[in-house]
Amino acid sequence: MKNRILVTGGAGFLGSHLCKRLLDENNEVLCLDNFYTGSKDNIIGLINNPYFEIIRHDITFPIYLEVDQIYNLACPASPVFYQKYPIQTTKTNVSGSINVLGLAKRLNIPVLQASTSEIYGDPTIHPQTEDYWGNVNCIGIRSCYDEGKRCAETLFFDYHRELGLDIKVARIFNTYGPNMAINDGRVISNFIVQALNNENITIYGEGVQTRSLCYVDDLIDGFIKFMNTPDLHVPINLGNPVEMTIIEIAELIIKLTHSKSILSFMPLPQDDPLQRCPDISKANTLLNWAPKTDQKSGLEKTIDYFKNKLQNEAS
Ligand code: NAD
Ligand code: UDP
Ligand code: UDP
Repeated sequence: MKNRILVTGGAGFLGSHLCKRLLDENNEVLCLDNFYTGSKDNIIGLINNPYFEIIRHDITFPIYLEVDQIYNLACPASPVFYQKYPIQTTKTNVSGSINVLGLAKRLNIPVLQASTSEIYGDPTIHPQTEDYWGNVNCIGIRSCYDEGKRCAETLFFDYHRELGLDIKVARIFNTYGPNMAINDGRVISNFIVQALNNENITIYGEGVQTRSLCYVDDLIDGFIKFMNTPDLHVPINLGNPVEMTIIEIAELIIKLTHSKSILSFMPLPQDDPLQRCPDISKANTLLNWAPKTDQKSGLEKTIDYFKNKLQNEAS
């Protein structure tokens, strides 16, 4: 019999890839989304599959379903969108997690939380290991996301400790690929869209801050391995440890798109972390996972996606 799997945030960037992969692996998928940052375009290729269902629902409200596994991805991931409605962002992370955990508790099923490198804040150790507690501002403009995700982790671990729930907490580092929205506001989508349009590339600050970029297919492999590895009740970093400055990322995208764009420097947003790079030894040893896609091939696939998307919008 097929497993029936709930993906909250299933119409978003990562969620849509996860839904597709789970269907390809012969599961039944319930895609729950309130379509705040997600879109029907991301899942349009799946809707003719009779084992795929869309549920329009805001996860801050309870929901009663019968499923075998849950991936909890619901939450806007782009700073632009999570900062637009910060109270809703905290509610999604906290009340949303409580509802998802209540559902998992009632059904006694495994539940994976899409946590984030943001729980490390502006890190003082480098690269970041899972035992680092983080350096996070609790009253800044990123706090609704960072502290919301930290509280969600607390809830996941307390549902495990107090009630024995089978939880999986994946700390995702910056991931990119097709199905990011054109207006998403995150670095890769912004730079590729600007480069393809030969517009100025908007570098925030001096562009010397670093990020480590993981291609989406690799991340989804990590999710599925984590979900299907029993008794692993520790947080695990998932990301690609190849670290680049924002300027290096901009230059690589300009080169790959053969763009005439030039760099334009803008103010650095408040609390923007200076460095970010995952230590993935835990994922290596406990999940036998490591990213396989190099930056050039991942970016080329993403550039092709945005090229098509921009052409379709223009026609
Ligand atoms: P995304 O914004 O594309 O997707 C989030 C999805 O959640 C969207 O479809 C949105 O409509 C939906 N959503 C938001 N609030 C909701 C609510 N209250 N109820 C139901 N649905 C809701 O972002 P993404 O990049 O796909 O990220 C997915 C998850 O992974 C998020 O939880 C994010 O925090 C986490 N994450 C992503 C990254 C990354 O680099 N992509 C890094 C760290 C963590
Ligand atoms: N919940 C839900 N679906 C379920 C089971 C629970 O949405 O199938 C919600 C429920 O509304 C509750 C939350 O999850 O507010 C937490 O559930 P839990 O059983 O842990 O707490 P309690 O109901 O005892 O407050
Ligand atoms: N950034 C930038 N220009 C942009 C978008 C982002 O220089 O148009 C920078 C941003 O300041 C941050 C990094 O790129 O230092 C990654 O930003 P993103 O919003 O993608 O994710 P974050 O890791 O900050 O959550």
